[in-house]
Amino acid sequence: MHALTLKNLTKTYDNGNQALKGIDVSVEEGEFCALLGPNGAGKTTAIGIISSLVNKSGGEVEIFGHSIDAELEAAKACIGLVPQEVNLNLWERVENIVLNQAGYYGLNRRLAAERTEKYLKELRLWDRRKDTARSLSGGMKRRLMIARALVHEPRLLILDEPTAGVDIEIRRSMWEFLRTINEAGTTIILTTHYLEEAESLCRHVAIIDEGRIIEDAPMSKVLRKLQREVFVLTLAEPAAGLQLDGFEVSVRDDGDVEVAIGAGQTLNEMFARLNEKDVTVVSLRNKANRLEELFMRLVDKNDTGAAA
Ligand code: ADP
Repeated sequence: MHALTLKNLTKTYDNGNQALKGIDVSVEEGEFCALLGPNGAGKTTAIGIISSLVNKSGGEVEIFGHSIDAELEAAKACIGLVPQEVNLNLWERVENIVLNQAGYYGLNRRLAAERTEKYLKELRLWDRRKDTARSLSGGMKRRLMIARALVHEPRLLILDEPTAGVDIEIRRSMWEFLRTINEAGTTIILTTHYLEEAESLCRHVAIIDEGRIIEDAPMSKVLRKLQREVFVLTLAEPAAGLQLDGFEVSVRDDGDVEVAIGAGQTLNEMFARLNEKDVTVVSLRNKANRLEELFMRLVDKNDTGAAA
């Protein structure tokens, strides 16, 4: 069973902005899938259409077999959405926010109360239930939005950049929680522009750039494209014309040295070669953010494909 199917989905905003240029994606039930892409790629637009906050211009969307054109209510009932922006009524009490959402989905009072307790406890907000949303920290507000999205126990949970601007500790505990509910059977789709987040959580990744899907594959396959990494080394002494056996090396104008580490090579080998030449390394950094590197490669590949 497919949790989600997008067929030739397009969106042109009123100002002529073509945010989606015909995307096809399918997500299997039980999957943990990332929709990855740089800012402006079209991720939020796609999520907005799937959760019927944005009207599509063309194409089809099915959620667990329910078309959003023919069976909107059934499709919507399958989805829990955690939006990117905090959209809580800040003057409302934490527990009422979750209870009201349960009411919106037609849960009876007893079940609504049970689920509210369950999810506020799981998201470590239970002792704050009488406080207004306004009094919560940023990370707590996000957790509250997750509790609210889960109260009707949707089969598909969609999170739009759930950890943007959230500190590392909260990010990790959120990852843990998402893994647990995915293992319990909820299909999850999240958008992110952190490759590390997708890498840590997702078995499947769809990569979107400028309104087009440029890759739709298992995470492991996508990561294999990243086997070559370039490091930038700052040396204690300038080393014009430096060469290291077996490595691609180039000296930059600022005197720093770039070394490419290919598949099967290690940083230890690079340091061994540097030691042989008595070169002292003061600092080391990745040249490109790995996500940028990945995009460069995918875009290159797609360009070549189009020309061939
Ligand atoms: P992402 O979530 O990947 O950052 P978005 O879906 O927000 O991307 O945006 C995709 C494109 O659509 C961008 O060029 C953005 O400027 C444009 N866009 C988004 N929302 C609107 C809107 N309401 N009106 C016009 N253009 C929009």
